[in-house]
Parts: sequence; structure tokens; C-alpha cells
Amino acid sequence: MTTRVGGVGWPVEHSRSPMMFAHWFDVTGVDGVYERIPVPPEDGAEFFKNFPADLHGVSVTMPHKGVAAAATHAEPVAARLGSVNTVWREGETVRGTSTDGAGFLASLDAAQPGWREGKGNALVLGAGGAAAAVADALADAGKAVLIANRTFEKAEALAQTVGGRAVEWGALSGAMDGAALFVNTTSLGMKGAPPLKVDLSSLPDTAIVADIVYVPLVTPLLVAAEARGLAAVDGLGMLLHQGALQFERWFGVRPWVDDALRAKVVASL
Ligand code: NAP
Repeated sequence: MTTRVGGVGWPVEHSRSPMMFAHWFDVTGVDGVYERIPVPPEDGAEFFKNFPADLHGVSVTMPHKGVAAAATHAEPVAARLGSVNTVWREGETVRGTSTDGAGFLASLDAAQPGWREGKGNALVLGAGGAAAAVADALADAGKAVLIANRTFEKAEALAQTVGGRAVEWGALSGAMDGAALFVNTTSLGMKGAPPLKVDLSSLPDTAIVADIVYVPLVTPLLVAAEARGLAAVDGLGMLLHQGALQFERWFGVRPWVDDALRAKVVASL
């Protein structure tokens, strides 16, 4: 029987996930179907509390990651970060986890295999849901994490959660000086949002610049990084790798993130 999974968010019309999961159903032979499931913000808690009986699992995007963490049996890291992006049914229990952090690290491993050896801090811009997952995964990988955010109090709170240090947005230049990795996890640079304007001149020549925004694929930040001759990593890798980990949770099979899939999604952006 075909297993039904889906993507819960608001809005969901522009999600690339149906294309990604359809590709993996094809290449793995898993008999499944993935549908967009629009759930308005005010209905999120109810949706996860009464998780539909005909669904095996869902991916969760904005604005429901927090309510999914509260309403499912979330794994410890996802519960601590208050963010669940993957939900699945195990018997009568509805479980939750987050694959965002591991997906981000996997995308760095694929694009810049030497990044783990880089000497210096990981400087994370942003303190929202995605920032929490990225910063926690980087700290877990042994990196000293610095966090800068428009709302400084949120940077401080996240730094405390992940064992990092908050820096003022105005002190970014100084913080870049010792950074091996600079990651944008804010929505700045996303289609429809203002561009992220930061001066990258004090980053070391060996620094890697990553943006988790993937629409557009080449953000103004990545353009600036390339203009400075720095290694630049786009956000599509994170989307695909966190998705592969979701597929594995649902079906016990880890699909490949291959060039054919990447090309398909790039063509749709
Ligand atoms: P979120 O929880 O709403 O956090 C948004 C972040 O952006 C906050 O740090 C916020 O700062 C900052 N921000 C928003 N507008 C700003 C502005 N005008 N100036 C300065 N900072 C601003 O969102 P999220 O879920 O973390 O998602 C953030 C981005 O990551 C989105 O573009 C999303 O598409 C992307 N994302 C990508 C992937 C992937 O797989 N590639 C996965 C997840 C998310 P304040 O705290 O000051 O409001």
C-alpha cells in the first residue's frame, strides 16, 4: 500500500519538497506519496495533537516547527532547541526530530570537505529556528560558535543554549577576523526580503561563506564572497540533505543527494 507523507507549513505552495521526494520515490522504489499540507498558523497545535491517522509522517516548515516540538514526542536535541522539522508515526506514538542541523553539516561536508579542519570560529548570523539548528550542530562538531543577530537578546539566549558567545551586530567586522566559517541563517537575501549587506573584508582568505537561503540560489552574500575570492556554499545543499535524512526517518532508506536531483530543483528556482 502506498505510504502517505507530506509537508506541513503556511504557505506551502512554493515548496520544492514535493519534487525532491518524488525523485527519491522514483530512484529508491519506495511506494510513497508526498503532498503539500497547508495548515494555517492558528491550527498548528491542533494538527499535531490529532495527527491524521492516514499520514505516516510529515516535514514541518515555518511557522510550525515550535508547536511540532511541543506537541510530539521530540528527541532531546529537538526538544531543547524547541524545533521539530520531521514527524513520524511509530505505533501509537507521534515522534519528532530535527534534521536541519545535520543537513547543514552534510551540505558543508559535500561542498567543502575540509571545513571541519578549518582553524577559527564559526560565526552565525541570525538567532531564529534555523540558526538554532545550525549553531547547535556546529557546536556539536567542536566549533567555537559566535552568534550575531538584529535582536541581540535572542543572540544571547541562543548562545547560552548552544554554549556559544553572542556578538553585537555592530561588532561583526571584528568577529569576522577570526572566523573560519561565516553562515547567514537570517531571511535577509531571500527573494522578497532585503539583501544582506555586510562587509566581508575582514574575513580571513581561507574562510568559507555559507548562506542557507536558497531562493535565489546565488544570494547577494554569496556574490560578495565570490568577489572576495572566498569559498561560497549555497543553501540548496542543506535543503536536499535535511530532506534525505527525513526520508530515512520515514522509510528506513537514505537516498542519495545526486546531481540529477540538484539540477531538477535548480531548474525550478
Ligand atoms: P525565523 O525563525 O523567522 O528567523 C528569522 C531570522 O532572520 C531572525 O534571526 C531575524 O532576526 C532575522 N531577520 C529577519 N528579518 C531581518 C531584518 N530585516 N534584518 C535583520 N535580521 C532579520 O526563520 P528561520 O526558520 O530561522 O528561517 C530563516 C531563513 O532560513 C529563511 O530564509 C528560510 O527559508 C531559511 N531556511 C533554509 C533552510 C534550508 O534547508 N536551506 C532550512 C530552514 C530555513 P530577529 O531575531 O531580530 O527578528
